Amino acid sequence: MKRVIRAKRGTELECKGWQQEAALRMLMNNLDPEVAEKPEELVVYGGSGKAARNWEAFDQIVEQLKKLENDETLLIQSGKPVGVFKTHEMAPRVLLSNSVIVPAWANWDYFRELEKKGLTMYGQMTAGSWIYIGTQGILQGTYETFAAAAKQQGLDSLKGKLVLTAGLGGMGGAQPLAVTMNEGVVIAVEIDEKRINRRIQTKYCDRKTDSIDQALEWAQEAVEKQVPLSIGLLGNAAEVFPELVRRGIKPNYVTDQTSAHDPLNGYIPAGLTLKEAEELRNNNPDEYLRRSKESMVKHVQAMLDFQKAGAVVFDYGNNIRQVAYDQGLKNAFDFPGFVPAFIRPLFCEGKGPFRWAALSGDPEDIYRTDRLILELFPDNEPLKRWITMAQERVAFQGLPSRICWLGYGDRVKMGLAMNDLVRKGELKAPIVIGRDHLDSGSVASPNRETEAMKDGSDAIGDWAILNALINTASGASWVSVHHGGGVGIGYSLHAGMVVVADGTDLAAEKIKRVLTSDPGMGVIRHADAGYEEAIDVAKEKHIKVPMLGI
Ligand code: NAD
Repeated sequence: MKRVIRAKRGTELECKGWQQEAALRMLMNNLDPEVAEKPEELVVYGGSGKAARNWEAFDQIVEQLKKLENDETLLIQSGKPVGVFKTHEMAPRVLLSNSVIVPAWANWDYFRELEKKGLTMYGQMTAGSWIYIGTQGILQGTYETFAAAAKQQGLDSLKGKLVLTAGLGGMGGAQPLAVTMNEGVVIAVEIDEKRINRRIQTKYCDRKTDSIDQALEWAQEAVEKQVPLSIGLLGNAAEVFPELVRRGIKPNYVTDQTSAHDPLNGYIPAGLTLKEAEELRNNNPDEYLRRSKESMVKHVQAMLDFQKAGAVVFDYGNNIRQVAYDQGLKNAFDFPGFVPAFIRPLFCEGKGPFRWAALSGDPEDIYRTDRLILELFPDNEPLKRWITMAQERVAFQGLPSRICWLGYGDRVKMGLAMNDLVRKGELKAPIVIGRDHLDSGSVASPNRETEAMKDGSDAIGDWAILNALINTASGASWVSVHHGGGVGIGYSLHAGMVVVADGTDLAAEKIKRVLTSDPGMGVIRHADAGYEEAIDVAKEKHIKVPMLGI
């Protein structure tokens, strides 16, 4: 029988306190069919990222959370409840560890063996830590990346600027809307018409065409008039990008979100229709891989040519530079990854994907917090634009939620103000506050978040562990340590935290500590690596960094 899981709404508790109730509802919300990719397999998102090991373990977690006392802590080992201990009221109600394997054994093959034996599960980032909120998270991260790209050039937005990209899949599909939300114009090349159609239906993309001439005409007009416009251009990036170079077209920004990280299943070689590509993949995978990689060389070469012509070019975390480099394109890494290019300065301020969900289930509670954020940060223009557009264009999935990038100082301000709204009854029920693990001080991932750190500390994993420890000591409601999220087993260590604003004084104390030390970890991590921006933030905000004499 197919089980359908959906979090309870409203103020009636099934648990002995709001902290446990929040964990229960967020676990269930992760598996809501509106939220999860494959809820019947407990898979939330990101390939096989799960919320619980199996249904038996899920049922036990639910049962344990319902009877958990306000001074007890439940331990979850890779999606299975393994113990309950008496702790104290200030301690987290749940502690989780997901997919962690002793380093010398940490590869996909060994992980799969352990998984087959029923000993572990892949927790991804927010799947196994019960704070996934659907595609809003991806949209906002992409929006923030393009906002940072504009800001880096001294611009308030992408108004009158042209972005060229490719790939309108699960995550890449957020690109057209993220660009138009930044007031820019985008041509997104996509080989699969169904993908373009889906983005048009969901209003993520404005128009489509299979003609380069038509796309350029629309784009030019919109750029001249300085109006936002997104265009899905049916074609192969490995053909269209070089053709645009040949024509002397000069986009302002160029990137790519084809699934180049998987040359066999994620990238379509030039010169083939989708059907031909599928046949070749099935009948002659070696030839497919040869053609796919050869096409990526052309694709990356065109990106390098755009860069030479003055465009801002960046890799969007799909490993396309590595593939081209391995094929002999020795200057493939001449353009940077998106974290060192745009996101790291935000990380230096402790900024990252802060998010919250309304346990009442009432969208009005989120709209009230939207107003609150505009009241608290009236001068932050990109934030204002994001909140206004998110209200208009983002449909809630599961429990109503919101995401926005806030940094050190601002997170605690927002968290305490939300707790006050709960206390005063302006919100119908408590608010769950958390974040992605792709955050400033919570992840070690040398091919992504910690690529090219100033002091070479890309693979130092201590920071992620320290992050989990300080969040536990600070009294977060639940804390998690994960391995392998985002980039796969062997390639990352990261930690998550959630704190519940239930309107009490105790919650205010926890929020004050957690929402200070958690983004503070981002500041000290980057200050320690020698980033001046982080050192300045530490000085200005009086964050103690002993070795720097601060
Ligand atoms: P997806 O597989 O759902 O979509 C990829 C899309 O690219 C598909 O629609 C496919 O038809 C299209 N495509 C493939 N080859 C093409 C070609 N030659 N020309 C034009 N279109 C082509 O994947 P996704 O979830 O959208 O992710 C895309 C990539 O971006 C992944 O590699 C992912 O890891 C990366 N990514 C990274 C981050 C990050 O934060 N670092 C964020 C988003 C995405």
